[in-house]
Amino acid sequence: MDLNTVTEVVRLPSERPGAHWREGDAWLAGGTWLYSVEQPDLRRLVDLAALPWAPLVPGDTGLEIGATCTIRDLHAFVPPGDWAAGTLLATACEAFLSSFKIWNAATVGGNICLSLPAGPMITLAVALEARYELWATDGSVRTVDALDFVTGDHRNILAPGEILRRVHVPARALRKRAAHRRFTLTRLGRSTVFLIGTRTPGMGDLMLTVTAGTTRPVRFAFDRMPDAPTLRRSVDAIPADVWFADPNGTPGHRRHLTRHFAEEIRRELTAEDPA
Ligand SMILES: Cc1cc2nc3c(=O)[nH]c(=O)nc-3n(C[C@H](O)[C@H](O)[C@H](O)COP(=O)(O)OP(=O)(O)OC[C@H]3O[C@@H](n4cnc5c(N)ncnc54)[C@H](O)[C@@H]3O)c2cc1C
Repeated sequence: MDLNTVTEVVRLPSERPGAHWREGDAWLAGGTWLYSVEQPDLRRLVDLAALPWAPLVPGDTGLEIGATCTIRDLHAFVPPGDWAAGTLLATACEAFLSSFKIWNAATVGGNICLSLPAGPMITLAVALEARYELWATDGSVRTVDALDFVTGDHRNILAPGEILRRVHVPARALRKRAAHRRFTLTRLGRSTVFLIGTRTPGMGDLMLTVTAGTTRPVRFAFDRMPDAPTLRRSVDAIPADVWFADPNGTPGHRRHLTRHFAEEIRRELTAEDPA
């Protein structure tokens, strides 16, 4: 789509962009959303994709994902063998309603910052207990829990001009067992609900992340595997106004699916660790 209010594109910003941010600016990542709808408030695009940010840096403490890492690169990444939950990286990429053109351009950071309920990078990051490094326009840096970043449909905690620089996924979360369930109305459709459960090997804990069905991610942490009624009560305690409504499902439908899949995940992860 032509963005005819945009009069300038900064192709090579400084390595520490932000100092020159002004109203009417937008950070341009893959542009798959920015170019897909009218943007009457925008005057200038500042291209982050040109910055030399490493897309994927695996290490002893976990995985660092640069905000400009594309969905294609994340999908192609082969995690170390002891990162059992590493399979979720590809699973989340495959949860995109998108063509190969979107996959090649869309970025992890763009997906998170767009903050749609069906943002699969959000699901992934919250389920794997990631933290985000954010760069403010005054040069300061803060890190936040992925769970606290998205606050509603298309809403997040970013201040004007603030940048998501990287996502850090801890190794201890990547070593967990994981199970996921996702429902779409059509085969390649947008997620109606997307749930991920994780469990520490040899322990009886459960962490359950509920997304897409809710306007913001919801995560439950149990020190010991809950029984079915306890888990169901947790799902039922999600406030009524947090359930999302759009053509992919009513709040009631989404709550029903979440109850059902949460229980399936609980049962799957209750089974003994594989030898
Ligand atoms: C056909 C189609 C299907 C789609 N399917 C889905 C889907 O299933 N789920 C979904 O969630 N989205 C979907 N989208 C929307 C969008 O394409 C994706 O969310 C994509 O991941 C956005 O990434 P991007 O890099 O292209 O972001 P951009 O379009 O470049 O940017 C998106 C927003 O994030 C801001 N931004 C980007 N990077 C940063 C950063 N590092 N720091 C701060 N702000 C930043 C931008 O300023 C902009 O406001 C779809 C779009 C299309 C056209």
